[in-house]
Amino acid sequence: MLLWSYLITVFTDPGSVPEHFRRELEGENLEAGTSTDQGAFGSLGYCPKCRNVKPPRCHHCSVCQRCVLKMDHHCVWIVNCVGARNYKFFLLFLFYTFLETMLDVIVLLPSFIKFFSQAIKHSSSPGNLASLVLAFVLNLAFVLSLLCFVVMHISLLSTNTTSVEVHEKNGDVRWKYDLGKKKNFEQVFGKKKAFWLLPLYSKDDLDNMISLHGLEFPTRSDIDP
Ligand SMILES: [Zn+2]
Ligand SMILES: [Zn+2]
Repeated sequence: MLLWSYLITVFTDPGSVPEHFRRELEGENLEAGTSTDQGAFGSLGYCPKCRNVKPPRCHHCSVCQRCVLKMDHHCVWIVNCVGARNYKFFLLFLFYTFLETMLDVIVLLPSFIKFFSQAIKHSSSPGNLASLVLAFVLNLAFVLSLLCFVVMHISLLSTNTTSVEVHEKNGDVRWKYDLGKKKNFEQVFGKKKAFWLLPLYSKDDLDNMISLHGLEFPTRSDIDP
């Protein structure tokens, strides 16, 4: 599951602004007679580097040198950006890596305790002891840092916020994309429970949930006008 989630996160495009996006938008606004600020896509920005319109929640990544839909962050571990279309896979990768390193720590713990309690008369070779200590310490370090990361992303997920948006949120006002915990979770993981632990989406979710494509996102005023 870890490898599957990892590879899918690496090879899934986090989402880029379609080339025809601007033209479509202008067409829609001409028909609706609205300005680009109040169009069907909500408030839009402009990226001077890509010279293109920025859909809501889209940000320019200086490493990828392009705009990424619902950009969360650029991740060096996956050599890719984490955005609208691979955020779920990234979270699953985090989750499974956390479980895997946790399992390692639990399995290695008895041998590690034995190593210190029988410090004088070791029966194993120095090579075995060194790899045991190294594996235990590295796994423990990963478990602790992943735990912080998992807790941080659970809090972001429960409020439907990206790592970039944390700085944009106005402290007093409830975040406009915060639809309530269950809906926020579904916005990323989809509605089909059977697919929640798999780095996949059901066809129904891909067809019916606009947020999974990264160009439009329901806001609180859509569900609770
Ligand atoms: Zn850009
Ligand atoms: Zn990037």
